[in-house]
This record gives sequence, structure tokens and C-alpha cells, in this order.
Amino acid sequence: MDILTFITASTDTLPASALELLAAARDLGQRSGDARVHALLIGADVEPHAEHLIHHGADDVLVVSHPDLAYPEGDVALAILETVVQQVSPDVILFPHDDFSGGHVAPRLAYRLQTGIVTDCTGFDVQDGAIRWLRPVYGSKAMAYMLIQGDGVQLATTRSLAFEPLPADPDRTGETQTLEIDLASITPLVPLVDRIVEEAEYAGLSLDQADIIVSGGRGMEEEENFAILRELANVLNAAVGGSRPAADMGWVPHSHLVGQTGKIVAPNLYVAVAISGAPQHMSGAGSAKTIVAINKDEDAPIFKVAHLGIVDEWQNVLPPMIEAAKAVVEKQRG
Ligand SMILES: Cc1cc2nc3c(=O)[nH]c(=O)nc-3n(C[C@H](O)[C@H](O)[C@H](O)COP(=O)(O)OP(=O)(O)OC[C@H]3O[C@@H](n4cnc5c(N)ncnc54)[C@H](O)[C@@H]3O)c2cc1C
Repeated sequence: MDILTFITASTDTLPASALELLAAARDLGQRSGDARVHALLIGADVEPHAEHLIHHGADDVLVVSHPDLAYPEGDVALAILETVVQQVSPDVILFPHDDFSGGHVAPRLAYRLQTGIVTDCTGFDVQDGAIRWLRPVYGSKAMAYMLIQGDGVQLATTRSLAFEPLPADPDRTGETQTLEIDLASITPLVPLVDRIVEEAEYAGLSLDQADIIVSGGRGMEEEENFAILRELANVLNAAVGGSRPAADMGWVPHSHLVGQTGKIVAPNLYVAVAISGAPQHMSGAGSAKTIVAINKDEDAPIFKVAHLGIVDEWQNVLPPMIEAAKAVVEKQRG
């Protein structure tokens, strides 16, 4: 079996999802008998990441490195993938379940290859040679196994943090091949005209990077009140998120919306402030290891899923919580 993983990286950083994908690929390979795991790595000046990918499970790395790939366009990524698919003839292609790779590129590639795709997978098993892809359904209220019909290549996207990266093995060796693809000959249907780096300006960390997320809901009442959430987030080195009303009212950018129609996150700690805990919100936040809820309504549904609940107005809870967090952080610094 040949498994192709699709990895986009920046010059400085390899996303955590890259190593998670390789772990998923190795796991799938083991369950299917024998597999060769290929990593397609695209970005600007990304060659130095190749060795790291090999140490974490890739058998070979196909690198497409070009300054224009610092922020790749969907059509360009698709054209690269089509070339590589012809070269590798994979049985399975794995993508991270993010906006670009999983949301934009993978479904279009599935259409072009006329094959099936299962998105947001958290696991799989192999029965009689057939892969059963496991994914949450009904807003994460249930899990379902999906089968892709036919003998063609199978595509899947994997949920962030669903697979634990393999420890680095510096003795692993593999082949790195630099592919020369004429990017100038690819005309994107939807070209990138401008980039607005909203989250960097909004708050230091994006939801994907954060180990801790502090989210606010409708009960925060107005945009100015999010300043106190940002203060707490600063102390905890956390990202700031929001529920649908908070995003719709412009209190947080849409890239910081948590939930079914926003980001699915799985931080170590999720602090939900004045959020009722609707299923559509919790399907994005429910995988957090620890959920702390602050809500003035003791019957709010969030208390059914929270590990720690505080029934009070956020105005009473957040100021002492920030002071306490500052004291802990200062003590840790010694
Ligand atoms: C198809 C679909 C997709 C959706 N996708 C999403 C999604 O991706 N993400 C999402 O979040 N929602 C989504 N929603 C909306 C979702 O159903 C809820 O309406 C939404 O999550 C509610 O947001 P909220 O908890 O901030 O507001 P509310 O439900 O209005 O809750 C506000 C809470 O704040 C508490 N509160 C008020 N004042 C205070 C105070 N001073 N101190 C403490 N607590 C206070 C209240 O007790 C209440 O529990 C979706 C809905 C649909 C139909």
C-alpha cells in the first residue's frame, strides 16, 4: 500500500498536523499489512523540514519549494497534487482537517479523481482489507464508520490532535526528492489578491496553535468586554475564541469562532465564559481535555459537559481569576 500525506509548511515551522498525519499514515499502514508512507511537502524554503518528516515516519519526502508557495492557492496545490498522484499512484491520500488542505484542496481533488473522501476522521480500522474510516457525526453526538466504495484511491482528512505524533527516530533514513513543477504555467481560477492577517493583529495565538483557549459568548454583552478575556488569555498564553453570536457581532473574528461551523479545537484547557453550551458550540470544543465554564445560569447546558463549573456573573469571576493566574505564573517563573 502507498499512502501519500499532504503537508504545507512555512520556512520556520512545520505544523503539528504534519507529524500527526505521518502517525496516522504509519498506523494505517501497519493495520493494512505493509505500507510506504510518502510526504508531499510544499511551501517556501521548506527543504530543511524533510529530514524531520523522515525521523517522524515518512519513507520518502517529495518537496515542492517555491517563494509563491508561502501562501499556496488551492488551484496550485491541486495541480501539484495531481502531478504527484500520477507519480506515486497512492492507495490513500491523507490531509489535515484544516481550512486550506482539508476544507479546500482535498474535496476538490476527490472530485477530480472521481473518488470518495471522508472528512474529519479521528481513527480507522481495517476489516478484510477494507478501510473503515471513523468520524464524529450528528454534531459529535455519535461516531460512525464510513466505507469508500470502489477500488480507487481513498481520500481522508484527519482531525487535529486525533493522532499522537510518533517520537522522533534520528536513525530513520529515507529519500528526499525535489520536484520541479512549473508553477507559472498554473493559472488559478481564484487568485490570491491580498492577505489580511486578522488573527495576528487580533490576538497573539490562533486557535490551532493554542494549548489553552479562553472563549466568550453572547453573555459578554459587547465587544469592549472581550478585553478582559484577552487579558486572561495573555496571562495564560492562551488564544481567544468565541461562540457564534460573538463572531456574528464582530466581537471576535470568524477565524476565532469555535463550533460546528467554525474551528474544531482540542486544547488542554477550554475556558467558556458566558457561553450556554449549545451542541453546535460543543461539537467544536467538546474534545478539550478540561473544560471550565463560567455562567450565571446554573441550568446552562454547558455545566453538563464542564469538568469545573462556576455559577456566577463573569464580572465577579474574571478579575480575581486573572489575579490568581498572574500569581501562579509569577510563582512558576520563580
Ligand atoms: C446549523 C447551525 C450551526 C451552528 N454553528 C455554531 C458554531 O459553530 N458555534 C457556535 O458557537 N454556535 C453555533 N450555532 C449556534 C448555536 O446553536 C447557539 O445559538 C450558540 O452557540 C449560542 O451562543 P452563546 O452560548 O454565546 O449564546 P446564548 O445561548 O445566548 O448563551 C449566553 C449564555 O451567557 C450566559 N450569561 C449571560 N450573561 C452572563 C453573565 N453576566 N455572566 C455569566 N454568564 C452570563 C447565559 O446564562 C447564557 O447561558 C449554530 C447553529 C446552527 C443552527
